[in-house]
Amino acid sequence: MFFCPTCGEPSLIIETSVDLGPDDRSDEVAVQAVHCDACDCHGAALYEESRRGDGEHVHHVMCVLPTDEVHALHLALTDVDVPTLSGWAGKIRRHSTHPIIYRPECV
Ligand SMILES: [Zn+2]
Repeated sequence: MFFCPTCGEPSLIIETSVDLGPDDRSDEVAVQAVHCDACDCHGAALYEESRRGDGEHVHHVMCVLPTDEVHALHLALTDVDVPTLSGWAGKIRRHSTHPIIYRPECV
């Protein structure tokens, strides 16, 4: 389960995720649209995984988006518009982002 950085509840859902492939700093880069059921916030998330050097590093952050930007993000994700999504990745990196905490579900 993913914890919402805004309200702290384990209610964050990854709605859409598009893999952009490796870039100059990560082996895996994905841009995601996320939504929290508890506080009803929408956000853009960036998942980066690096297996270079000393072990595995995961960097997963989100920034909260206003409604009009949510639509623009969903459109780019649906169309798998890679140049636009790369722009989103840069934008999420530059924004004041919050880390997304993941914990495996205890059943
Ligand atoms: Zn929330």
